[in-house]
Amino acid sequence: MESRREFLGKVVKGACLACMASALPLGGKAFSYLQGSARAATLSDHEAMYYAKAANNRVDCKLCPWQCRVVDGTRGRCNVRENRGGTYYALTYGKACTVHTDPIEKKPLFHYLPGTNAFSIATAGCNFGCEFCQNWEISQAQPEDISNVDMPPAEVARLAKENGARSIAYTYSEPLIFFEYMLDAARAAKERGIGSVMISNGYVRKEPMKELCGALSAVKIDFKGFTDKYYEDVCHGQLRPVQDTLVLLKEAGIWFEMVVLLIPTLNDSQGEIREMSGWVKANLGPDVPIHFTRFYPTYKMLNLPPTPIRTLEMARNTAMEEGINFAYVGNLAGHEGESTYCPSCKTMLIKRIGYYIEFNKIKDGSCPSCSCRIPGVWS
Ligand code: SF4
Repeated sequence: MESRREFLGKVVKGACLACMASALPLGGKAFSYLQGSARAATLSDHEAMYYAKAANNRVDCKLCPWQCRVVDGTRGRCNVRENRGGTYYALTYGKACTVHTDPIEKKPLFHYLPGTNAFSIATAGCNFGCEFCQNWEISQAQPEDISNVDMPPAEVARLAKENGARSIAYTYSEPLIFFEYMLDAARAAKERGIGSVMISNGYVRKEPMKELCGALSAVKIDFKGFTDKYYEDVCHGQLRPVQDTLVLLKEAGIWFEMVVLLIPTLNDSQGEIREMSGWVKANLGPDVPIHFTRFYPTYKMLNLPPTPIRTLEMARNTAMEEGINFAYVGNLAGHEGESTYCPSCKTMLIKRIGYYIEFNKIKDGSCPSCSCRIPGVWS
């Protein structure tokens, strides 16, 4: 029987092409490694942060804008926070369901330590219900219904270091709902000189987000679309709080990038992209990278085709017309829109082919041709 250490080594190093586009749940391909001591036997009894006790043993969760009122013996909407006798527990604290080492370009973060690896973890649960979710098997699961491994925050940081990662990515499902775990792992990583990046829908209340900003080094927000209707009907979420989070990130001075998954007929009109880009420029500035990524049919959304390449190109061009300096296309390996160009002299600075970097000419955070500063975290 394999030791837990051997299991983790295999999971962390065992990337394969089939799983590069989405998460590798421990209950899936890695299940055979889970025999014996690796599998977590119980859920966590770590007390949650950001909640208030109320009458009749009820608790009010203050972590995300849903502000669930949770009666004794039940859970909040995200499935991973439970009221037991008037105390609220974060059930997935230290219980990773997915562990992987990924290129940072996969997140995607293009202006954060390009060419480095991110030690990536997830737990079950999400506070949205996107009908196109690539990782619905973990994001929509009850934590006890999938395989988890005990991996306390210090162990996450230690394994990241051991595997040569420059950062830990909290990703695949929705890390905000494992807030306490992410916060403690990010703090442990910081002590070891390792960064932390959150890959998130941005649906969180202000106070917890401010606290996280002190521990994280970069954030990627999945900006689903630019209408309330799309957020409500397709993502089962809300647009406005996500906009508030983006503004908060800008004010906090933390590096962040945005991804917009373009789904044919639902959020891909030129008018919507123009409006979104205008809002980004006016409220967040022209230097926030926006990645327009290709949709492939999945989960509940099997009835729509992949995003046409011309739609991705239209979105990128429209964003640039609106003054966005770094607009990219994604999930389209080899396209010129994956590369980074100097906004001033147009020199190609970073050439990407999928997750592979052919060259990176950025020197001391600037374009070597015209000295224009290129925003990001480069070293
Ligand atoms: S974090 Fe979960 S329990 Fe708390 S308000 Fe959001 S959905 Fe509800």
